[in-house]
Amino acid sequence: MNNGHAVVDGLSIAELTKRHAGLGQSSAATSRVDQVFGADVFSERVMQQRLPRDVFKRLQRTIQHAEPLDHDSADVIAAAMKDWAIEHGATHYTHWFQPLTGLTAEKHDAFLTPDGHGGAITEFSGSSLVQGEPDASSFPSGGIRATFEARGYTAWDCTSPVFLNRNGGSVTLCIPTAFVSWTGEALDHKTPLLRSMDALSEQAMRILRIFGTDMGVSGVVCTAGPEQEYFLIDREHYFKRPDLMACDRTLFGARPPKGQQLEDHYFGSIPSRVLAFMQEAERELYRLGVPVKTRHNEVAPCQFEVAPLFEMANIACDHQMLAMETLKRVAPRHGLQCILHEKPFAGINGSGKHLNWSMATNTGVNLLDPRDETHTNMQFLVFLCAVIRAVDLHADLLRASVASANNDHRLGANEAPPAIMSIFLGDMLTDIIEQVEAGKPKKTMKAGKLDLGARTLPSIPRHTGDRNRTSPFAFTGNKFEFRAVGSSQSVAWPATVLNTIVAESLDHLATLLEKSVGGPGKAVDTKRLQPAVASLLQKTVRQHKRVIFNGDGYDAAWHQEAEKKRGLANLRSSVDAFPVIGSKKAIDLFRAYRVFTKVETESREHILVEKYIKQVMIEAETAVLMARTLMLPAALRQQAELAEVVAACEAADADVGDLRGDIERFIDLVNRFRKAIDSLEKASEADLGHDVLKHARHLKARVVPAMADVRELADRLEQRVSADLWPLPTYREMLVIR
Ligand code: ADP
Ligand code: MG
Repeated sequence: MNNGHAVVDGLSIAELTKRHAGLGQSSAATSRVDQVFGADVFSERVMQQRLPRDVFKRLQRTIQHAEPLDHDSADVIAAAMKDWAIEHGATHYTHWFQPLTGLTAEKHDAFLTPDGHGGAITEFSGSSLVQGEPDASSFPSGGIRATFEARGYTAWDCTSPVFLNRNGGSVTLCIPTAFVSWTGEALDHKTPLLRSMDALSEQAMRILRIFGTDMGVSGVVCTAGPEQEYFLIDREHYFKRPDLMACDRTLFGARPPKGQQLEDHYFGSIPSRVLAFMQEAERELYRLGVPVKTRHNEVAPCQFEVAPLFEMANIACDHQMLAMETLKRVAPRHGLQCILHEKPFAGINGSGKHLNWSMATNTGVNLLDPRDETHTNMQFLVFLCAVIRAVDLHADLLRASVASANNDHRLGANEAPPAIMSIFLGDMLTDIIEQVEAGKPKKTMKAGKLDLGARTLPSIPRHTGDRNRTSPFAFTGNKFEFRAVGSSQSVAWPATVLNTIVAESLDHLATLLEKSVGGPGKAVDTKRLQPAVASLLQKTVRQHKRVIFNGDGYDAAWHQEAEKKRGLANLRSSVDAFPVIGSKKAIDLFRAYRVFTKVETESREHILVEKYIKQVMIEAETAVLMARTLMLPAALRQQAELAEVVAACEAADADVGDLRGDIERFIDLVNRFRKAIDSLEKASEADLGHDVLKHARHLKARVVPAMADVRELADRLEQRVSADLWPLPTYREMLVIR
């Protein structure tokens, strides 16, 4: 099996974090947090303490240079891990992986084995550490499984730290693994992510070699810092909402009189109950070595955000999965329910997961930092232009990487970035890019003016923030922020796409530069380097600048311009975006960089479409059930009450005013509601055979609108039915935490 290898010389997560964030330079004052941080991680420090010197070194070589690990060493490491885990209260171990359900999976095995003499011994061998063999048949495989067998393997990703999972009093040793079929096809999100990181490293290194900045650098990693938005509501309310319980979003609910109009929640003071929750969740995450850093209120009522320090993408991804699980697990202890859905409540903001992304050398140099020295500035421009080219060429694939039934409620709505993928560069970089396009290479470069241009850049503060919240892909000082990612999504897939498309552009630029100034094996002609870069970047900017847009992404005029004038794709719905994944262009791309085989690529599309279908069907069935058994009975009771009142008034000869008209209008509303429920039910029952894409298209065209119709009428009823008859907690009640 070749699952690729992302790890490069000299880089450890601790180092990377230290280098970029000043972590570890803290004083004794922070030692309490320090003591907790990573307490449940079998970290490099623990390994050093517990492993014989030669085994420790061998493992480091495996981690850093992907050298194979011999059986004896694996046995020693496993034994040390087991002892450490048992000392910390663990009874079981599990291979921890990320199947294509988008969640994590684990199957626990006890360390205990009967010794045959009435007792038991604890056992954990090197082979149990390195490889597992879970039955793959119940995980989505998108057709891979049908062709082959149910058997799957998990393989230890030794670059991501082993950790202890504490849940309900039990402690489990978790070994991060990749998950593949027995023929080696990736059945998970991690394997392709690692492969894409390899591809990116390989191509980025070529650029560094051309610039002569590869000294002491043995690899390039991509870094990721995913910001997580989420909602918290009272658990009591949650249990009374079948829609939240089944779909993680409300399918009904009238807009409350006070939503987010006053914008008084954003960055507001955090309610103490929520703060207590955050504190506990953060503490658990610290123990797991997840460097959570910021927390604040978000735009919508009851919406919050947590963001970690960035890490190497595969570790950031593992940590992000742990963050989502931890938020969910800790919330109930505070009487709260954490909702990760992209759009749990209509009419107020949804949740995203901003994926901050950059590339860095394993020596810690951020390749997207414009503030580097003069001649590295040229190098910066090459990396920047590679990203611009990549996003322009593969905007559709990038869009498809965030496609889901959930995200459809968010992307393109007037709050989240539109489905048109464009890049926000900001004034400073746009100016530089315009200079590059104008192409005064010789003069500028000889006179050092382009460099000067870059040098005179007012230093962009690292945390420039969301100066343009409407762009799906924004440059924010020294990294890109991909904002279209959905809050409940794993970041592995969008990161895989991003890495691959950028690798392809770096490959393209490196090939052309090597041709003109001397490639591998030949000395680079440094005199020709500057003009060659200038002319190549000029061409690149000319070809791809259409994707740069610094204006308001919500503006209807932009949508017109993007589609009509610039020819940018606007794949509004996920169903339109899914087929991009299985297109020849995407298959060729992934194959060229050994990220996915054709079969694997096709399986991804299939799984996403299947998931879309399942989600929409669950929603439709839940909507019908709730409408029929909760709202309709309430409305009929209201109708009867109204009728009684009128009858009583008329019997008493009292003036009923327009009550009769009210009743008629109410009855009409109820009748329309009934019909809408019937239509939804009918639409969702249509038999569409096995063509999943056809099924998904039908759901999008018929079922989703039918659900919206039912909802519209239900929400109107909610505002007309007596509060004591209405069977569900309303938005007004749910969207406050006291
Ligand atoms: P915002 O204003 O969007 O909150 P921040 O500067 O606070 O921006 O950064 C948000 C996230 O970006 C954090 O998780 C941070 O660690 C991450 N980040 C910063 N630099 C990088 C980088 N070079 N690569 C990847 N992520 C980064
Ligand atoms: Mg942000």
